Amino acid sequence: MLNVAKFGGTSVADYDAMLRCANIIKDNQSTKVVVVSASAGVTNHLVTLSQQLLSHQEQQDIINQIRGIQYNITQQLSAELQLNRQIDEVLEHLTALVEQQNTVQTAKTTDSILACGERMSSILFAEVLRSIGVNGLTFDVRQVMRTNSLYGKAVVDIEALALNCEQQLLPLLQQHVIVTQGFIGQDGLGNTTTLGRGGSDYSAALLAEACQADDLLIWTDVVGIFTTDPRIASSARAIPEISFGEAAEMATFGAKILHPATLIPAMRSDIPVFVGSSREPQAGGTQIRQHVESKPTYRAIALRKEQTLVTVKSPAMLHASGFLAQVFAILAKHELSVDLITTSEISVALTFDNPPGSTQALINQQVLEELEQLCEVTVEHGLSLVAIVGNNLQSTTQLGSNVFNHIEDVSVRMICHGASANNLCFLVAENDANQVVETLHDKLFM
Ligand code: ADP
Ligand code: ASP
Ligand code: MG
Repeated sequence: MLNVAKFGGTSVADYDAMLRCANIIKDNQSTKVVVVSASAGVTNHLVTLSQQLLSHQEQQDIINQIRGIQYNITQQLSAELQLNRQIDEVLEHLTALVEQQNTVQTAKTTDSILACGERMSSILFAEVLRSIGVNGLTFDVRQVMRTNSLYGKAVVDIEALALNCEQQLLPLLQQHVIVTQGFIGQDGLGNTTTLGRGGSDYSAALLAEACQADDLLIWTDVVGIFTTDPRIASSARAIPEISFGEAAEMATFGAKILHPATLIPAMRSDIPVFVGSSREPQAGGTQIRQHVESKPTYRAIALRKEQTLVTVKSPAMLHASGFLAQVFAILAKHELSVDLITTSEISVALTFDNPPGSTQALINQQVLEELEQLCEVTVEHGLSLVAIVGNNLQSTTQLGSNVFNHIEDVSVRMICHGASANNLCFLVAENDANQVVETLHDKLFM
């Protein structure tokens, strides 16, 4: 048996958290590959360093705060001095990158800056493993995670990853538990890339696939996938099992618990995924698999904030063919991925995700100008996407009344339904979003 386990930012936030995770691995001999995120807060600091025009002093302060987070961990370990040297090496590299970014800001340098968090946490976590008698070894994932050069949302070369893992990673598993970095990769030019915020889940799923693992274990700060974000509705409860299809819709439509792409490799290679809490490993969790016994009409509600709605309008669309192809060609050229679409006679509404902490402005001036040559364009912000996830939704009766009757006083900006049996999505104003989720959760799940 071979498992890949992933620990998110809060699970590797400090020494106690890392120790709990190390004990989970010690208790589960099948876990041979460990993927870690940066310690909680570090990536956000790195985003600030890479994005904003800060004074030299402000930059130094942030770097010192990052050092503080990591030194708090090293001071609990007997290898403290040697670890501090390794952390300082990464931070010296970070300082040089920040100076470079001060001169010319590039997406390439941004990715190298963002990668520093996972580089440090993976060094520390391997040592915590060794301190409890597990033969942990830090492995630089950039040796195997080959990507293209789309900095900030790099695309992984799946075949190269499989081959590289077979040659470089699998042989190490005989003797070691490998601790490697989520979120980061390397392009063909040897430059560091990142897979997008929250990307460690996806890295772990890709590595599970490449190593032909039997299971993927996602250890986080909640005891599984809940019926909705427990921070929004206190009545949310953990779901014992959920199908790949439903979980993928949840991840895509905002349940921050999993990066949207996580389930793609798992589904493709039929690798069951477990989601549980590293704080309470005995508390059970959620099993995500191909076949599940229960298939309720309503399984969960996901919420994604910061959505951008773009409406393109042109009389040229009336009875014409090819207009949408032109719109999509522009979006594709700028690597923009569309989430929801609705159309009317002469206009089309499209939504885009604009996640917090994203390193690039989404619909920038250039995209707007190109679209405006074709049609009238309106851009709206401040919207949230609510997704009702379940089974056979496309053929369920009373779906509309079960959902919309309860939120009559809220204006619904856009509705998408019918493309998937697993979801019904709609847009509401950001200010209404939490209340809508709470109300619907009470009506559909209590
Ligand atoms: P990690 O750092 O381990 O990757 P994240 O913060 O990215 O953890 O994801 C876990 C968080 O996702 C939870 O703390 C919870 O607030 C949020 N979340 C959103 N939707 C859900 C859901 N349906 N079930 C569980 N957690 C959810
Ligand atoms: N550290 C990265 C982030 O905060 C990746 C991850 O945690 O999955 O986005
Ligand atoms: Mg996450």
